[in-house]
Amino acid sequence: MRKKEKTAIEKLDKITAIALKRGFFWPTAEIYGGKAGLYSYGHLGKAVKNNFENLWRSYFLSFENSYEIDSSIILPEQVFIASGHLEHFNDPLIECKTCHFRFRADQFIEDNLKIRAEELTPEEMSDLIKKNKLKCPKCKSWHLGQVKWFNMMFPVSMGAVGIKDLAYLTPETAQSSYLSFKREFDAARKKLPLGIAIIGKAFRNEISPRQLFFRLREFTQAELQIFFDPDEINKLNKEEWKEISKYELILLAQKQKTQKEISCEEANKKLKIPKFYLKAMVLVQKFYLEKLKIPKKMFLFRELSKKERAFYNKIHWDIELYLETLGGFKEIGGVHYRTDYDLLGHEKHSKENLHIFYNNKKFIPHVLELSFGVDRNIWALMDIFFKEEKERTLFSFPRTISPIDIAVFSLVSREGMPEKAKEVYNIIKQNFSCFYDESGAIGRRYRRQDEIGTPYCITIDSQTLKDDTVTIRERDSMKQKRIKISNLLTALKT
Ligand code: ATP
Repeated sequence: MRKKEKTAIEKLDKITAIALKRGFFWPTAEIYGGKAGLYSYGHLGKAVKNNFENLWRSYFLSFENSYEIDSSIILPEQVFIASGHLEHFNDPLIECKTCHFRFRADQFIEDNLKIRAEELTPEEMSDLIKKNKLKCPKCKSWHLGQVKWFNMMFPVSMGAVGIKDLAYLTPETAQSSYLSFKREFDAARKKLPLGIAIIGKAFRNEISPRQLFFRLREFTQAELQIFFDPDEINKLNKEEWKEISKYELILLAQKQKTQKEISCEEANKKLKIPKFYLKAMVLVQKFYLEKLKIPKKMFLFRELSKKERAFYNKIHWDIELYLETLGGFKEIGGVHYRTDYDLLGHEKHSKENLHIFYNNKKFIPHVLELSFGVDRNIWALMDIFFKEEKERTLFSFPRTISPIDIAVFSLVSREGMPEKAKEVYNIIKQNFSCFYDESGAIGRRYRRQDEIGTPYCITIDSQTLKDDTVTIRERDSMKQKRIKISNLLTALKT
């Protein structure tokens, strides 16, 4: 095994060990041996997830005229006939004829031949597998079947009427936004662009769930569908264009070998990315670089070719982050131009008129989708902010993401210090998520908080009893300073 791969596996094992021990996540139904592709969050993981979702919500809902809605996760079969998921939402499956192990053919090729296989047809995959004499990953037999498409939808049978009432668990939150479009458009005063966001569960019967949160069968998505007038796709008002035209996006276009920083102006001219689409890309990149504090070199947008894109997309740029544990840049979201594909399909199948009257014309709005896998983002944050130092490991999460804001310690559990420490704890817990502890060596207590990413620890010691000051220790620098209790809230808020 190469050194890079070994380091990646070791890091993955270390993060997973912390996650299990400290309460970030674990396999669902672990006491029954777990089930591939299903994970549960413990209290710290859930806090990180809530923080990510809240940050996403407050940031992306600032896109003009955007609203969050909620919907059922079970949707009738007709929805997915109209959306094309029942026909096209397929992954390539291959079966070993010797041990009957079934696995995903494109990933199998990518792992073994180190090439991108997403755009290959089943026939091309079968040929490559034969030509390179690839063996079954389980029993090592050469006797592998032909690659076939496998539909990833999860059927559910509702009520007592059986087959007539067939429904599916939704494979993306997007469809619910499309189903709600007409109602929301009317309720939100008939204006475009209109953003409809959903943070909710999605289900895909993945053939080979793996890489922890990267290929789950049940996961959370945060998606914003922006409905707009297609005649306006390359128009922004003067101020908006001025604001972003010089901003540099980190792009890996089809014709490039490595990513480059390219201004929106250039991307519009040379890569023909429409201005409205660029506005969304700028919003996304700023979310990662400025809000989540992701280092620039670990972020990029990757353009997908016609063959690689999802069946409903006309323009498709994946959002990728560099993840050491998974061996390189990995998709954590996407910016997709879905045109009127979905609304048109629903109009045709439901026979409901989904045209609107706007800008003095009758038309079906087009959709720009900003799609994020919440769980993949959580893993990405754990990977990127995990650090090992001589005497400690830490998650140097940005403050907005850390599961706990502040730990409050009494240096010893006597001499009136715990009482004073509880007083301090009661003051700050109104504004921050806090953890209180009064036992054990203080150094070890600091290490335990570093390990879960707590940005500040406050310690009450004998000096506190004399002058009402406490020490604040900062996680990354480990520097401590003394501060008056009366100034504590202001200091912590800055
Ligand atoms: P992939 O190519 O990795 O299968 P996708 O292109 O099919 O993903 P989309 O349909 O664009 O994914 O879904 C949007 C986002 O939802 C993805 O970028 C990803 O973050 C998340 N996502 C998709 N499938 C899964 C999964 N099986 N497990 C966890 N997250 C997922």
